[in-house]
Amino acid sequence: MSFDTVAVHAAREDLTALGVHVPPIDLSSTYPLPSIEAGGQAYDRMAEGHSREEGQTPVYQRLWSPGVARFEEALARLEGAEAGIGFASGMAALTATLLSCVAAGTPHVVAVRPLYGGSDHLLETGLLGTRVTWADPHEVAAAIQADTGLVIVETPANPTLELVDLRALVAQAGTVPVLVDNTFATPVLQRPLEQGASIVLHSVTKFLAGHGDVLGGIVATSEELASRIRPVRALTGATMHPLAAYLAHRGLQTLPVRVRAQQDTAQVVAHWLVNHTDVQHVHYPGLGGSDPAGLVGDQMSGPGAILAMDLGSFERARQVAERVSLIGHAVSLGGVDSLIQHPAALTHRVVTPEARPGAGILRLSVGLEAAEDLIADLEQALATAVSSTSEPHLRQLISS
Ligand SMILES: *Cc1c(COP(=O)(O)O)cnc(C)c1O
Repeated sequence: MSFDTVAVHAAREDLTALGVHVPPIDLSSTYPLPSIEAGGQAYDRMAEGHSREEGQTPVYQRLWSPGVARFEEALARLEGAEAGIGFASGMAALTATLLSCVAAGTPHVVAVRPLYGGSDHLLETGLLGTRVTWADPHEVAAAIQADTGLVIVETPANPTLELVDLRALVAQAGTVPVLVDNTFATPVLQRPLEQGASIVLHSVTKFLAGHGDVLGGIVATSEELASRIRPVRALTGATMHPLAAYLAHRGLQTLPVRVRAQQDTAQVVAHWLVNHTDVQHVHYPGLGGSDPAGLVGDQMSGPGAILAMDLGSFERARQVAERVSLIGHAVSLGGVDSLIQHPAALTHRVVTPEARPGAGILRLSVGLEAAEDLIADLEQALATAVSSTSEPHLRQLISS
């Protein structure tokens, strides 16, 4: 069946037999135990990292919950994975995956910058007991050590939309599993497991749920790797809430149409920005020269719905972010409404200065509004923005 059909129907096949049209929402924190033995067996099975067996008691919501399991199955099918594991947030998903490497005695991570600011900071601090080596994509093979448990990459990268060739990176990684943060592309545009990656991670908060009302995360991977990550989730307790799972599962039904429509509008906005005299540079994989390796149309079926613009100075960027009115001034992305934010001062403020995006850069997540309305809003904001003679140093800005 086609991807769009799977998006609408995945993990809903049993609903008619249940006599309902949409998945029931089960908020049980605990479940009846048929007997001590049956409860104990189910507990052991899930604590060892397996999913619940048909007919077994779920025991407790932190171990298994039916609505979360539905969303996990649906997303796994869209990514072509054997298993999905839902989390309370994207950062919780990354945390559990990193802890599973520490638990396996392979705490060294090779990571390719740029990454989402929180992911960069989590790795850089070594808070979880991991050690990181930052590497360019072509240096990954040389960076691998005897105890490397994971290679981490994000493509398109946050916030400046660089693309990384996943097949080449997987070849560099050899036998080490490659984790791809697929939050920006979504499985509509890119399915990293088909390129040889081992783990796909999403902030469900963004495109998958898509309406700005859910915080969630998920990893999609093989059953073998999933069985190492599930016990970490059960122990550390960062599981997804059933209501979040319900909304995220519903979000998947419209994901293909949303992503394609948002991408169409982003292309129009990107071309308009390129021709605007006050915009120094537009970062968008759909523009000529932005994709030297020709990955759009091959690895990624389209350039996506996120772009970044360099306005040349912090002061101009600040004024534009604060003067748009239809476009929301807020972090996050991938929702039905357009959002703009200043990465260096917000989402990437915790990143070391060398890896921090430029002070004049704004990131725009293009929503489902009409292109002409978004352009009119950007035009009025750009028209009144002026550079200040006293440009604040970005360091002052971040420590304030
Ligand atoms: C938002 C985001 C995350 C973190 O996800 P949360 O749900 O906010 O914890 C990770 N990676 C990328 C690319 C993101 O945009």
